[in-house]
Order: sequence, then C-alpha cells, then structure tokens
Amino acid sequence: MNIFRRIYKEIKKYNKIIIARHIGPDPDALGGQFALKELIQNKFNNKKVYAIGSSPAKFKFFGNLDRLDEINIDDDTLLIILDTPDIKRIDGIDNIKEYKNIIKIDHHPIIDNYESLSLIDETSSSTCQLILELIFKNHLKLTKSIAEKLYMGIVSDTGRFMHDYTTKKTFELVTKLLKKSNINFTSLYSPLYARPLSEIKFQGFIFENIELTDNGLAYIKITDDILKEYGVDAASAGNIISELNFVNEIKIWMFLTEDKKNNQIRANIRSRGPIINEIASKYGGGGHKYASGARLSSWDKANELLEKLDDLITKE
Ligand code: AMP
Repeated sequence: MNIFRRIYKEIKKYNKIIIARHIGPDPDALGGQFALKELIQNKFNNKKVYAIGSSPAKFKFFGNLDRLDEINIDDDTLLIILDTPDIKRIDGIDNIKEYKNIIKIDHHPIIDNYESLSLIDETSSSTCQLILELIFKNHLKLTKSIAEKLYMGIVSDTGRFMHDYTTKKTFELVTKLLKKSNINFTSLYSPLYARPLSEIKFQGFIFENIELTDNGLAYIKITDDILKEYGVDAASAGNIISELNFVNEIKIWMFLTEDKKNNQIRANIRSRGPIINEIASKYGGGGHKYASGARLSSWDKANELLEKLDDLITKE
C-alpha cells in the first residue's frame, strides 16, 4: 500500500486527531494544518480534530487554533506533525513520548525520527504540496476553503513558484487544484503579502546597512534598539530575507537579529550556491540546502557562524 493510502487508513482509525507544526509558523505550516483539519472533519464528522500551537496575529486569517489542555491523550489519539523535522521546534507538544501514534508529513531533511509513520519528501516544494497529493491520491474532496489554504502555503513556500524544488509536479498539482476548486487565487495575495509600512522602512534600513565580505557573504546585525526604532519585532527580518536573492555580489546572506525576549540571536540564512544547512545544524539550527535558520546563544556564537559561512564560500 502506498504511503498516501496508509496515512489515510491511519487517520480513519482514530477518533481524536491533533495536528501540530513548527514554532514561528509560516503559511505552509498553517495552511497545511488548517487544510488537513478541514479535510478530516469534512470526511469524518464524528472525529474530534484539533489544530494546535500559537500563531502570529498577521496569519489569523487562516483560522483559530485549538487548546491542547482540553484534550485527554489516550490510545485513541493520533498526533500528526507537519513541516517539522526536529522535536525541539514542534509547537505546543510538551512531551512527545505521551503519544503512541505519530505521523510526520514534511519536506525537510530528516533530523529526529520521532514518528511511527512518515511521509517525507525533500523534493516536494512544501508541506502543502504533500497534503494536496494526499487529497488527490485518496480521491478526497477538495473544497474551496481547503484549496485556498493549500494554494497560499505552496505559493508562499516556493516564493511564488521561484525557489528550488518548484517542479513540474508542483505545477501539475497546482493546475489540478485550480481546475477542481476554481478558486479566485489572485484575491489571496493581499492577505498573504500585506505588510505594515514600518516593515518596509525597516527593509530600507537593512538594504542601506548590509555588509558584504570579499567572498560574497552579506550580513547584518540587528539589535533590539534598531527593532524598537523601526517598531518591528524579532521575526520581521525573516520576512525580508528573500528580498536579497539574485544580487550579483551575494552568494550567502544572513540576518542576525537580537531576540531579547528569548535571550537569543535569530539567524536567517540563504544561499545561491553553497549548501548551508550542514553548518546551520552544527549551530543548533537546520533547514533546507539553500534556506536555513538557527537560534544562537550569544553574539560570539553568531560571529563564529558568520566566519564559518564566509569560509564555506571559498571552499565551493
Ligand atoms: P527562516 O530563516 O526562519 O525562514 O528558516 C529557514 C528554514 O530553516 C526553515 O525551513 C526552517 O526549517 C529552518 N530553521 C529555521 N530556524 C531553525 C532552527 N532554529 N532549527 C532548525 N531549523 C531551523
């Protein structure tokens, strides 16, 4: 039996299903989570399905999340974790060992083997693409609402069909989605991409102040004072990182942002060639070959990571 069918059969077996995903969720994680919740509820209206974790206010349009403390976890509970390769970044699950049955659906390189059944495809553009495949392979009903959420996840994770792993299969699946659901997809870009003016001004600051090494590593260190000055938060730089793609002089680029609340430095790292996730994982982070991240305990560690990435360019 293929994995898509096996996942469907597992879902069918359980009456309580919890759907979780990574901390700091993006539209792929949230779109996948809410689409899967609706999908299961539409097909099996007796099952209790919970989408858990916390979410930034700007993504509230995806839906309201559920509270886990209202759920009694027992043998009839299935946990599905989306878009999260590592235990440390699962949002809302304190003790994964409490769960006997876990399905992982992900497109990241494997880090922790916490699941009992997995659908992992690193060549998939997004987790939403995998859920779309799951729908078509099992002939499930693609409603307008589910289609919209999956479309937003795919568009967002592929950088509007531009990043690596946007494949013929991505276009085939999305074409099928559009044909079957007939959604007004251009109307979805406004909620997905609308940003406050403060973030645009902050973007201007980053563009003005980015540093470049001789090897082609671009970086900026953003302190808490700068965040306050621009009225943005520690997650804001992450929304801007992709804007520096396709700059001739830049091979790898990294934003380092002080996150005072969590007493750490956030690193957003991107590459136009060198494989960066191996170095990111040595610094407690991880991610894809050309899009990684990490949380560092000090500026010293951040500087060390900068040097390692700069060296990496010379080894290419
Ligand atoms: P970001 O720069 O936050 O958009 O992250 C880019 C990619 O790196 C995401 O796909 C995440 O999977 C991964 N990533 C980010 N932060 C971490 C972290 N602290 N640990 C492991 N992977 C991370």
